[in-house]
Amino acid sequence: MKKTILTGIRVNSEPTLGNFLGAILPMVRLANAHSLEYNINIFIPDLHSIISEVEGDFQENILRSIKYYIAAGLKINENVHVYRQSYVPAHSEMCWILNCVASMGELGRMTQYKDKGQGKESVNVGIFDYPVLMAADILLHSASYIPVGEDQFQHLELTRNLAIRFNHKYGEILTVPENTETQMKFMGTGEGIRIRDLVHPEKKMSKSTDSDNSKILLSDAPERAAKKIMSATTDSVGKIKYDMFNQPGISNLLQIEALVNNIPLQDVISTWQGETHYGDLKKKVAHSISTFLESFQENMAAIPDEMVLELFETGEAYANDVADKKLLEVQKAFKLR
Ligand code: ATP
Ligand code: MG
Repeated sequence: MKKTILTGIRVNSEPTLGNFLGAILPMVRLANAHSLEYNINIFIPDLHSIISEVEGDFQENILRSIKYYIAAGLKINENVHVYRQSYVPAHSEMCWILNCVASMGELGRMTQYKDKGQGKESVNVGIFDYPVLMAADILLHSASYIPVGEDQFQHLELTRNLAIRFNHKYGEILTVPENTETQMKFMGTGEGIRIRDLVHPEKKMSKSTDSDNSKILLSDAPERAAKKIMSATTDSVGKIKYDMFNQPGISNLLQIEALVNNIPLQDVISTWQGETHYGDLKKKVAHSISTFLESFQENMAAIPDEMVLELFETGEAYANDVADKKLLEVQKAFKLR
């Protein structure tokens, strides 16, 4: 049986250049490299999105999220399945069943829940329970590889534990996803990419940052993005060196330059190492960014909504079929059927 690579994209707010270079682009490369021998499931976890405020037009965001992948070069073939979670009702039912396998204790230990709930008077149950829905998303589709950042490793581990516990009691029904170490190796992302905040380069670029100059959005006008690069914080060392610890601002620019142009970081470093005019590097990166955004935004505009809606239609038919079959096995295990 073909193995499955699964990825979900939250659509609560607009992605930054960091999200694009660190998550979207690597997924596109992974999908293009493997879509002949694996199922590639790209889904919109719309039910996950409503655990917190959704900014902007929800439906519009959903369409745009898929377009980011296509504009970044995702090749569509019959192994690539695009679907919306809430259009595959088996996910919600599987979540309920897994709720009866998971314990309050293990969910309470999830650091994301602890972080998000901290200092709040009231926390919705969705925030507490969403790792179980995530486990349902993964297990219904028997996914082996789920490319996630380090912040999601704990949830992946929970998914594995639930599957192992379930199988132990009911037989080998659920596919246990690979462990995080194997996942990292498969993705080949090494320690992972961390684009830095342009104003405070000691932090990573985040979409939830309030400061507009700190982040580049995929919808930024190219000239505006170029200006943000020109005003990026650097350092007073006066010599270009790739050193994320002592010169994070300059190193960030070198990394962006390499990723945006798809050239090895080492090549960019050898070109610039030892130079003393930070302004020259900034001009080059600003140019790269504005050129990239211009063509990316052109690609985005050329993708009709209908194309995404058609992908949803076939993808959701496929996803419902696969998910319903697995759900039935699970229901039978519980004597619900
Ligand atoms: P938030 O501030 O709301 O946490 P975020 O920008 O950190 O937003 P997430 O939704 O947490 O974005 O993460 C989406 C994906 O983007 C994850 O796979 C995450 O690892 C990746 N990612 C987030 N920020 C960066 C960054 N600065 N560089 C590279 N990858 C990033
Ligand atoms: Mg984050």
